[in-house]
Amino acid sequence: MSRGAAVIRVGVLGAAGRMGRTVSAAVSADPDLELVAAVDPAGAGQRVEGVEVAADPEALVAAGVEVVVDFTHPSAVLGNVRWGIEHGVHVVVGTTGLGPDDLEAIGRLIVEHGGRSNVFVAPNFAVGAVLMMQFARQAARFFPAAEIIELHHDGKADAPSGTALSTAREVAEGRSAAWRGPDGETLPGARGGDHEGVRIHSVRLPGLVAHQEVILGGPGQVLSIRHDSLDRASFMPGVLLAVKAVGDRPGLTVGLEHLLELD
Ligand code: NAP
Repeated sequence: MSRGAAVIRVGVLGAAGRMGRTVSAAVSADPDLELVAAVDPAGAGQRVEGVEVAADPEALVAAGVEVVVDFTHPSAVLGNVRWGIEHGVHVVVGTTGLGPDDLEAIGRLIVEHGGRSNVFVAPNFAVGAVLMMQFARQAARFFPAAEIIELHHDGKADAPSGTALSTAREVAEGRSAAWRGPDGETLPGARGGDHEGVRIHSVRLPGLVAHQEVILGGPGQVLSIRHDSLDRASFMPGVLLAVKAVGDRPGLTVGLEHLLELD
């Protein structure tokens, strides 16, 4: 933010969760932002960064929030985005689970409400993960045969991860030719999920944070592109960038790459 600009009033949905707590701390530590509200039914009454966690999103209105950040649950996120749009609040979404139909509905809703709210959605806020997706798309042009292994902590609600699905879409779009590997399985599920021939394998284990490897195979060679988020701190620069940028990006923006000036 430019020197002298007003501090942005931020609320966090899912503030008592793993990501919500880290985001709340990052917002509090940023001189351009102020954490003014925290919402999480699971943590109501607790304090996060000195702010009392409320059970109800109405606390966001009472606090005069300008931007709300959502790291909740795939079952809650669409309702939260709708709430933000209906209340004229900009929304930054980290929660995974929004599919193409949901994104289309969000775009329509923004227009229906006069474009007062902007929405920014990123399946992954880690810069390294965004680069991994871009590199995978570039590589798919030369290596159409690709599979994805994503690995996350055992508290993750959804599978595959939003990052893996986005990567599979990038690979499918970037390929120079269609590819489909063998389907044969003696144990159901052994070949993983299938997005247009790109197989996705989801590992869930304690000790992991968020990791992904894209393996591309060609005659006599294999290219592996791997990214590891070893700490939730990896997502914070991207989240803060989005919080500061969302007010200047009318409508719906999907993907951190739009804020990184990569080209
Ligand atoms: P978590 O620890 O389970 O935290 C989510 C919190 O949100 C929980 O306390 C949950 O309460 C609460 N919650 C559920 N519904 C809510 C609602 N309607 N309003 C307010 N709070 C609500 O999960 P996490 O590990 O922080 O992950 C959150 C989401 O972020 C997941 O979808 C994950 O995949 C995603 N994520 C995205 C990125 C990225 O870069 N885009 C990075 C990491 C994680 P209950 O326990 O009662 O449900």
